[in-house]
Amino acid sequence: MCARQCEQLRHYFVQNRSEFVEVIQEKNLAFGALDLPSVDLVEFPLMSLEDRKQEWRGKELHGRFLRVLESQNVDKEWSTEWLRTSGIFGETEGFILSIQDEVISTRGYQRHVMHQDVSDWCRLCRVQNESIQHVCGGCSVLAPREYLERHNNVAKVVHQALAKNLKLQEEEQPYYRCKPPQVMEAGGVRLLWDSEMVTDRAVEANRPDIVVIDQRKKEGLIIDIAVPLDANVERTVVEKKRKYQPLAVELKEIYYLRKITVVPVVISTNGVVLQDWKKLMETLPLTTNHLKLMQKAAVLGTANIVRKTLSL
Ligand SMILES: [Zn+2]
Repeated sequence: MCARQCEQLRHYFVQNRSEFVEVIQEKNLAFGALDLPSVDLVEFPLMSLEDRKQEWRGKELHGRFLRVLESQNVDKEWSTEWLRTSGIFGETEGFILSIQDEVISTRGYQRHVMHQDVSDWCRLCRVQNESIQHVCGGCSVLAPREYLERHNNVAKVVHQALAKNLKLQEEEQPYYRCKPPQVMEAGGVRLLWDSEMVTDRAVEANRPDIVVIDQRKKEGLIIDIAVPLDANVERTVVEKKRKYQPLAVELKEIYYLRKITVVPVVISTNGVVLQDWKKLMETLPLTTNHLKLMQKAAVLGTANIVRKTLSL
């Protein structure tokens, strides 16, 4: 390790006052090139949380995620909930944080950040630059299977909650185990999964992820799930509402419903959600536990996709 790298690492450990430094200083563990016990902590003022955030925010690539978290319509608390309660293993948690900070050795990273002499074309589609964004949500080769599976896992949490709430099944199944039937029906309630809806007039989109037709209450729900990249969450919510409005009008007429609501359920590949996320608990029979499960399914799905792709 060169002297400059040593100096930078020493600064990093000492200025953040990690427990690691405290133990090393206390036990006088003088191993390694950093020689941390000999550092006089007085010379290194402790960085405040705000200073650390400012430094993180200022990094063009690695600070992008913090800038997303701090944007106006994003729910910062809920977007980072998985870190507090998901129970994901530490190693995987670290990997997901690296994906969020974009410090993953994709071909694009190797070429443009590490300045290595490698091609930056995606190893799968060979059409686009292999950035972490591309692997997480932009590769045409991953779309039909890997992205779909991640999307379906999030959707299954909603489907299971509805199936139980509408008394179509006794207990909810874990999302990674269940295979929702296309139609569940009982007592004037119909719950549809990934079904093409037949309408009198042709509509732009007629195959939402989940539809509920409740003839007892004369109410309906059109639910569509998406797991886009962080930057596309807001646009996706608006787009889904617009896209399914004509189908809502049609179904309302066909089934003589009093009202029908289009509900987009959108969480990013990194688990980012908007301020409206909590309101899903008002429109759908979801609890905070369901919201946490959906986020876990999204971020774990992303970690699996990145791991698998990089190992190819
Ligand atoms: Zn690709």
